[in-house]
Amino acid sequence: MKIKRIVVGSLEENCYIIEKNGKAIIVDPGDEYNKIEAAINNLKVVGILLTHSHFDHIGALSYFEEKYHLKHNEKIKEFNYEVIATPGHSKDSLTFYFKEEKVMFTGDFLFKESIGRMDLPGGNSLDMKTSLELISKYPSDIVIYPGHGEKSLLAEEKLYFPYYFKILK
Ligand SMILES: [Zn+2]
Repeated sequence: MKIKRIVVGSLEENCYIIEKNGKAIIVDPGDEYNKIEAAINNLKVVGILLTHSHFDHIGALSYFEEKYHLKHNEKIKEFNYEVIATPGHSKDSLTFYFKEEKVMFTGDFLFKESIGRMDLPGGNSLDMKTSLELISKYPSDIVIYPGHGEKSLLAEEKLYFPYYFKILK
């Protein structure tokens, strides 16, 4: 499985193209559909995953849903992944976990060296705490791909969890 990152829009959102055997998933088509299309090239798009519905993650969503006749977050049979509800940054925040490849797409829930803001509508610090507790049980050698910024190793992020647990209430 190959993962390509395309940084799009004014908030520099990470859109990802996940590729396996010539088939692809688009994660968070936030903006600049032409840049995303260039990255897709001639791959067959079989699904669209959305971590949450904030504007910077959905700017090109309807474009790709119409182009490929897909609805986001419908089951994609060509890929094997787990959908984990991780609210806190938003009510609808989801994390997509590809167990065999040991990668996670965390959206704006968990970043490299930080967590998502909780002051927007639907944000909730207790939800955030529960979500972090849940993710802390996953293997430390998972690579996380967040909605903004660089990827990271879950082991590195787990070092901050005790601090987060202390401040979240
Ligand atoms: Zn967001």
